[in-house]
Amino acid sequence: MNAETREAALRLCDAGRRAVDLGLSPGASGNVSVRVADLTLMSPTGISLGELEPEVLSVLDSGGTHLDGPPPSKEYPLHLALYGRVEEAGSVVHLHSPHATAASCLPPWSDTSALPPVTPYLVMRVGQVPLVPYAAPGSARLAHNVSALPGTFRAALLANHGSLAAGRDPAAALAGAIEIEEAARLVVSLQGHEFSVLTAEEVRELTDQYGTPWGF
Ligand code: ZN
Repeated sequence: MNAETREAALRLCDAGRRAVDLGLSPGASGNVSVRVADLTLMSPTGISLGELEPEVLSVLDSGGTHLDGPPPSKEYPLHLALYGRVEEAGSVVHLHSPHATAASCLPPWSDTSALPPVTPYLVMRVGQVPLVPYAAPGSARLAHNVSALPGTFRAALLANHGSLAAGRDPAAALAGAIEIEEAARLVVSLQGHEFSVLTAEEVRELTDQYGTPWGF
């Protein structure tokens, strides 16, 4: 590993540890990846994100060939699908965080977002979060369902499964996943209550300012 690759690996491991410290990655669930030059570093299968070290990461080339380290998580195709849809993505974080997973079992708020614009922060920091139709974890179908989503987005909820977020780097991807968890927590706690959401005009004011995607 050269210095640039090692730095990216350390940042990825930090993001994994932080997700566990925040209670967002139960057991050995979740997986994270980062791209550096033409390589992808990814968490291996069956390890807690809290135990990641640069030495235990899987290394793949841009064609998906496994070059070094243990075999990658079976969700590598899912990450690849999100990299394919989010131009600025340098890192992807997938979590089974409790509220995002609960919200992924609810009907989507709209055709383009599983979560409503319940606070400005989801709109400013992530944008719309489409609901990916259910397919088995690790399946080619699940990755295909991400590739086939309409519209522009930086993150998604996988139906009955969890969250998927992209960012420029691991910290940014994790920040997206944290924001989704927070919005999902509100939505879940408001179930059974009438609640207000931002209007289309209020959302547009934020997306114009912050450059995030949200279509009604
Ligand atoms: Zn998963």
